Amino acid sequence: MFEKILIANRGEIALRVARACRELGVRTVAVYSVADRDSAVVRLADEAVCIGPPEGRQSYRNAAAIVEAARRTGAEAVHPGYGFLSEDADFAEICAENGLVFIGPRPEVMLALGDKARARALMRDADLPLPPGSLATVGTAARARAVADEIGYPVIIKCAAGGGGRGMTVVWRAEEFGPAYDRTRSAAQAVFGDDRVYVERYLAHARHVEVQVLCDGHGHGVHLGTRDCSVQRRHQKLIEEGPAPGLSTGTLDALAGAALRGALHAGYTGVGTFEFLVDEAEGFSFIEVNCRIQVEHPVTEMITGIDLVHEQLHIAAGVPLRLRQEDVRISGVAVECRVNAEDPDRGFAPAPGRLARFAPPGGPFTRVDTHGYPGYLVGPYYDSLLAKVVVWAPDRDLALGRMRRALHEFDVDGPGVRTTIPFLRRVLDDAGFRRGRYSTGLVDRMLAVADPPAEPSRRPSAVRPAAPVAGKGVPAAPRQGGPAARRGGPVVEGVAAVRRGVPPGTANHPRRTR
Ligand code: ADP
Repeated sequence: MFEKILIANRGEIALRVARACRELGVRTVAVYSVADRDSAVVRLADEAVCIGPPEGRQSYRNAAAIVEAARRTGAEAVHPGYGFLSEDADFAEICAENGLVFIGPRPEVMLALGDKARARALMRDADLPLPPGSLATVGTAARARAVADEIGYPVIIKCAAGGGGRGMTVVWRAEEFGPAYDRTRSAAQAVFGDDRVYVERYLAHARHVEVQVLCDGHGHGVHLGTRDCSVQRRHQKLIEEGPAPGLSTGTLDALAGAALRGALHAGYTGVGTFEFLVDEAEGFSFIEVNCRIQVEHPVTEMITGIDLVHEQLHIAAGVPLRLRQEDVRISGVAVECRVNAEDPDRGFAPAPGRLARFAPPGGPFTRVDTHGYPGYLVGPYYDSLLAKVVVWAPDRDLALGRMRRALHEFDVDGPGVRTTIPFLRRVLDDAGFRRGRYSTGLVDRMLAVADPPAEPSRRPSAVRPAAPVAGKGVPAAPRQGGPAARRGGPVVEGVAAVRRGVPPGTANHPRRTR
């Protein structure tokens, strides 16, 4: 095992990693931006190094500053957390060149899986079912249109380098395709520095179900069951639960088996997540791989009793996996709610400010991962995630009751600060959600009920402009568009809005490897 590692991240995940390290007797180096000098991880880590100004590209995305901090402190490995440099193959290579272990998959595997179009082709080779669409990126608008016409509408145009719910455009009718295609490509170039796109069938009533896998560097892997992450706004998750409810054991096993097959085929090492869409008939298709620890990893920890960060550290240190598939037992149900500093009444716009009150819930089988405290300043620079409330219970009804109780207890307030808590409580009370019968359209359906459209529209999530995902290193920007704009024009999901957050031509491409 390592003696000392550097944590190249901030917020709750930096704390989460620091805790795992202390439990294993590994010393930690926290790095922080000027904006985070009062953060909890700076106090709790063994050492802390300031790496630059608040802007992500000058601090948490600044590979040179991070490597220099590791060199100065004698750290042997770098844990990248999620977001920032966690899926940047160049950064993983830079670590290796500087004698540092990158805690994650090998750079070439990250490159292959981080490019969504390449991942699609690779997983087809591993016999994973894909949504109908182009196997590789499509070139001219005419060729792309031919693909779309062949698979039938609605289709979704996806940026090969997209991520974080951004870089996707839903097209409902053939006549909208051409302009949507051009807009998506030029926005992708501006935001991701890569204009390659591919086309997929848009599955309007699907569920997002993902499988956690764990693979060592010796060719062994296990899966740790499923999570349902269909409660999303702007294609970003709000509530996750595991195991995915309402699916037959056969489907759950088939999903898990497909994910593990894909991971071994790709030569994956470390913790990773294979994401799928599942339709009403329980047919499923692969959408992408996340090559990192995920925000929602505690759900899996609660139902398996396995500490995923401990496992990451062991695997990166070269220790063979100590688990066999038959050792993995899924027990009970876990649910996670993401408490973000966002205003659900204003399209989930970031609502930063200083926390006057911050008292997270406690109680049995209730875990809160947070970096917040009374007096903490939720700044404009980073992700709006403030806390993750995770509960476990023997069955789903009890888990939901426990989550309602926990959110009821959560006391958080401050001038200007709004949180997702009231909206999360509404979801927990939604009849479809309570029955475990819901799809990725749930949040849009709820918002449509609260704010009936002026004219009938069957265009759900795809038409909602996205606010930036600051956690991916993108500075927050003011929210655009009221309810009318949210329901309005046909296509660009995410990309247009992010463009406003990140000026074209900035070197800070959110995920260069994706
Ligand atoms: P990202 O890498 O940006 O997170 P994903 O490919 O994981 O993008 O997709 C994020 C979400 O977008 C999915 O959970 C789902 O809600 C929606 N989505 C993606 N592809 C499709 C599709 N083909 N049909 C319907 N919804 C989709």
